[in-house]
Amino acid sequence: MRLETAAATHRGRMRSRNEDAYFAGESTFAVADGMGGHLAGDVASATALLPFEGLDGRVFADAPSAQAALLDAILAANAAVVRKAAGEPTLYGMGTTLTAAIVEGRRLHVGHVGDSRAYLLRDGELLQVTRDHTLVARLIEEGQITEEEAAVHPQRSIITRAVGVDVDLEVDTMTVELQDGDQVLICSDGLTGPVDDETIADALRGGADVRGAVGGLIDLANAAGGPDNITVVLVRYHETDVAEAAASPAAAGTAAVIRSRPADTPADPDWARQLGRYGAGRRAGEEDRGEGDGVARRVLIWSVVGLILLALAGLGARWLLSRSFFVGTDEGRVAIYHGVPASLGPVELHWVAERTDVPVEDVASWYRPRLDDGIAAADLVDARRIVANAPRDDGASPDGVEPTPAPTATGP
Ligand code: MN
Repeated sequence: MRLETAAATHRGRMRSRNEDAYFAGESTFAVADGMGGHLAGDVASATALLPFEGLDGRVFADAPSAQAALLDAILAANAAVVRKAAGEPTLYGMGTTLTAAIVEGRRLHVGHVGDSRAYLLRDGELLQVTRDHTLVARLIEEGQITEEEAAVHPQRSIITRAVGVDVDLEVDTMTVELQDGDQVLICSDGLTGPVDDETIADALRGGADVRGAVGGLIDLANAAGGPDNITVVLVRYHETDVAEAAASPAAAGTAAVIRSRPADTPADPDWARQLGRYGAGRRAGEEDRGEGDGVARRVLIWSVVGLILLALAGLGARWLLSRSFFVGTDEGRVAIYHGVPASLGPVELHWVAERTDVPVEDVASWYRPRLDDGIAAADLVDARRIVANAPRDDGASPDGVEPTPAPTATGP
């Protein structure tokens, strides 16, 4: 087995800082896309990468133990970022994506949280190995929007899971059997936002050496406007030693710890067969709190939470929160909350003020993401008015109130 590796990160053309970071060792690779105010994003991404040095070069008995090591490293990264954020006021609310891979023998093991991605280019075809933990990915899976609508969705940057936000974290892990000539690409959304998959595939098929290919991908993102920090790690896998490959448990077929696809993985049998993927969806801690969890909004919320917390420290948190209202969801129904739609580590900054009997399913699908994020209300009366006016899927609205027109642009 021989690997050719190249990696680079670039600030892009719009951002003043680079909050992305990567680790590229001999066998272990990771990309982190940090978020948070001031220096917090840089701290989050750099902190999250520290556990991966310890994984580099390690040999694993089988795929489950490699996945377990990746899971442990990501949970260690999460604990470290949570701890730092709790200990330093300017770092409150920071977080990061984390997509990490180990190439060991002829297998690729991946662990993943957030919207950075791992891809495999095989036989000229680009396959996305990871599933984005984003609001728009969820809306696509639910059939509410198309890929094309997602690409321009005003809330496309909202992620539903991040490292460093909560002590509980759900991590996806998976293993792929590699073939000679496979290329593994790990990248941040600064590449995949402005550059589509087909263009990325063309660049990887271009025949450049790994360094040239990485530079070419960064150039493509910048040529498309460079709206975000861009990070690219590229690994080419060459199966040089037949005896070595035959000695690997995977080649001998003994690594067939074939676990079933978890329910939340996209059902795409072709995709799964093509990758020869087995095992995914390890989980630690509680269930993903899901759509009602507004924490996932990027920088805006992270910095707002930080500011709010500083204010709260002096004023008495609960009193202040009790005077704020927003409309969100609770157990499948529209609900009115005291507080703000966010949490700080394990501390939720809101509680239910009033439950309603309006099922979320009855609310127009385009309006539901706004509920998921929490709709700010001036007071309890205003919150009740928002509930009464919430547009329904059939266009009808209770109390004879005219439905609110569909927004043309919302979100950050
Ligand atoms: Mn980014």
